Amino acid sequence: MSVMYRYNTVMLSRRSELKASRREVLQQMRQLGPWVEGTLVATARRCGKKNCACHHDGPKHPVLFLTWKEFGKTVSLYIPRAMEAEVRIWAEHYKKLKELIRRASEAQKQIIRLRD
Ligand SMILES: [Zn+2]
Repeated sequence: MSVMYRYNTVMLSRRSELKASRREVLQQMRQLGPWVEGTLVATARRCGKKNCACHHDGPKHPVLFLTWKEFGKTVSLYIPRAMEAEVRIWAEHYKKLKELIRRASEAQKQIIRLRD
């Protein structure tokens, strides 16, 4: 077996390996549910009722915000209690999506390198 033949065989199998990896990543992207960009921040607030314990040394109310950056400034969005579980899943999906983008990009760069 010539050196050149072996080299080509290795490159071909490496290329099909990369393409299989890319296919798998794209498949995972298609299966991913809705996502939302941002970081969830749990904090505590006083409510609007002046006679509530939270205004008189009692515990404050736990609240959840989604925060992200817009033009260098942090923006935050209050998450209604009823949507907390759902929004946590969307935020998880966003993290997963970013990881999939990174992996797909990495496979693409390696495919480009094989062209040398
Ligand atoms: Zn209160």
